[in-house]
Formats: sequence, C-alpha cells, structure tokens
Amino acid sequence: MDEHGVDVCLLSVGPDLPWLTGYEAMPLERLTMLVVPRDADATLVVPRLEQARVVERPEVFGVRPWGETEDPIALVADLVDGATSAAIGDRTWAQFLLALQDALPRARFGPASRLLGPLRAVKDAAEVDALRTAAAAVDRIATALQAGEIPLVGRSEAEVSAELSRRILAEGHQRVNFAIVAAGANAASPHHEPGPRRIEPGEVVLCDFGGTWPTDGGAGYCSDITRCVVAGGVAPDAEVAAAYAVLQDAQTAAVDAGTPGTACQTVDAAARDVIEAAGHGAHFIHRTGHGIGVEEHEDPYIVTGNTTALVAGHAYSVEPGIYVPGRFGIRLEDIVVTTSEGPDPLNRAYHGLVVVDA
Ligand code: ZN
Ligand code: ZN
Ligand code: ZN
Repeated sequence: MDEHGVDVCLLSVGPDLPWLTGYEAMPLERLTMLVVPRDADATLVVPRLEQARVVERPEVFGVRPWGETEDPIALVADLVDGATSAAIGDRTWAQFLLALQDALPRARFGPASRLLGPLRAVKDAAEVDALRTAAAAVDRIATALQAGEIPLVGRSEAEVSAELSRRILAEGHQRVNFAIVAAGANAASPHHEPGPRRIEPGEVVLCDFGGTWPTDGGAGYCSDITRCVVAGGVAPDAEVAAAYAVLQDAQTAAVDAGTPGTACQTVDAAARDVIEAAGHGAHFIHRTGHGIGVEEHEDPYIVTGNTTALVAGHAYSVEPGIYVPGRFGIRLEDIVVTTSEGPDPLNRAYHGLVVVDA
C-alpha cells in the first residue's frame, strides 16, 4: 500500500478476501467488507446474521457486525476516515462502490488487483501443494477418459460433462468450475457449451475441466486440464492427427520455455511460433495461458504484450489450441509452476491423442 500510495484497501466478494483472511463474503445485497487502512488495524464489516460464519482471527482483523437497521456504508466510511486514495476489490458490486463514492467524495478509487494481483500470482509452498493435489485429481479423471472408462459414443456432450462434474466432486474438489465437452466441429469454439449433440465414432472429443480444491481454513485452489480423445475406436482423420502433432510440439515448447526470468509473452510465442510455422497461425485464436490459484484465471497471463518475467512460484496454464471452423478443434492444457530449477508441470496425464474404445 505504501508503494502504491494507497491509504485504504476495501475488499468484499471475490477471491482477495478469502485469500487474505480465509473468509469468503456472501454475494448478497447486505455488505461484507474488509477495511484495511495503511496505518491501522483491519476490520471486517459483516452482517450480524453472518457473524457466526467468521472464524475470528484477532491477530489479523477485528470484526464489526452490523444490525439490520444500521448503514454499513456509513460504518465503512467511518473506518476509512479521511483516506484520499482507496483500492477496492475488482469484483465488488457497483452498488457498493457507487454508494462509497457518494459517502467519500474526497477519495480516489482504483482496483485492488494492482496491489493484490502480483502478490497472489506468486504462490508459496502450501499453495503449490494445493494446486498439485488438485492437478493430480483431474489427472486421474483424464487418465480414466483416455482408458475408455468414460462412455462417449451415443452419449450427448452434456451427459459426458455431467459425468466429468460428478468425478471432479468425487475426487474431493469442493466445487466444479467448468466441464467443457465439445465433439467434432463443436470443438472449434474454445468455450463451447456442452449440448444435446450425440458423440459419433471417429470424432475428436475435447474435454476441459476443473474445480476448486479445499484447504484447511483458507481459500480453495483451482484445477484446470484439457485432453482430447478420439471416440469409438476409429482412428482420427489424417488432418486432425497432423494438427495434433503440431499442437503437442507447441505445448511442449511453451512448457519448456517457462524458466525464471523469461517474459510471459515469450512463453506465448514459444507455442505460437510452432503453430504458425505449421500454417495454423490463424486457427490459434486465444492467448497461450492464464495464471491460476484461488481463481481459475488470474495473473500472470501468458499473452503477447505481457512483459512480466516469470519468478519461482508463478503458476499458470499452458493451453495452446488449433480451431478449424466447421471441422474440428483441439487443445492441450497443463498447469505449470515456475521453480528456480525451471518449469514444473503439475499435470502428468498422457499428452498424446488417444483413440478410445468408448
Ligand atoms: Zn478458458
Ligand atoms: Zn482449461
Ligand atoms: Zn485454462
């Protein structure tokens, strides 16, 4: 806060609050807000009826419950006391920010991500452990998919997605964040919504799924993996197989590029160069990856223009894709942690395009 000239940090719904305190605000019209003045103790302003959910940590923050007839905006404004520069959590509802701007006309507001993004991006050992445990859990599901243990042919994308979701929870995640299943030409849309389309033999089925893994008394950490399989025991057509070989080379190159000191955009380029050289440049329509932690997508983004240098503790996805409209889509994704020795890929499930008897 000193470095950024910020007098007070205000955190409500979103991942910053649980990351700092272990407490997750209810996404409700009743305001929950942690007030962190630069030079005074932090206070959690919380609806009285939710106070029982707060695990008190007096060494970290005080608690100021508010009753149904009190004005929580006035309480926060009182604690802020004359601040002229406020950082507010990026996910805070506009309703509360607008009210705070009215109540604090002298304060200039900026996004708290400027302070917290770089801090959250660098994981400590316990955070890496949680990411590794979550990655191993989705690896087991990917391995089951590749072994033909998840029926595909004749089922709809939505049914397979539901099975992936059940498995994500059965493995021990506290919630499912997404389970994209896209078959055949549907996979040309990277964030395809799984639908009623029945999977046919010989189709590539792209599965991109993840959840949040719980930790003791803290925020949960996310998993995220993509694997493609070919359904029905039928070999893929030659164009798809050739494109997959390019994709796998590109993904390996980008994983290997992730050494400390390397710029995020250089990791992106490592994948992009391979795909462009093979003539598929126009079919790789998104960044190579995103940071991951208490949020599925957070700093550092692996994208052209991001000159942030990787440091030990950065955790991010490497997920190049090739999408040919009307024909097919393929993507290959692992989570990687930067260490002083180099990149440490957390996902170890087989990386090839497996033809499954399912
Ligand atoms: Zn995505
Ligand atoms: Zn993913
Ligand atoms: Zn991802």
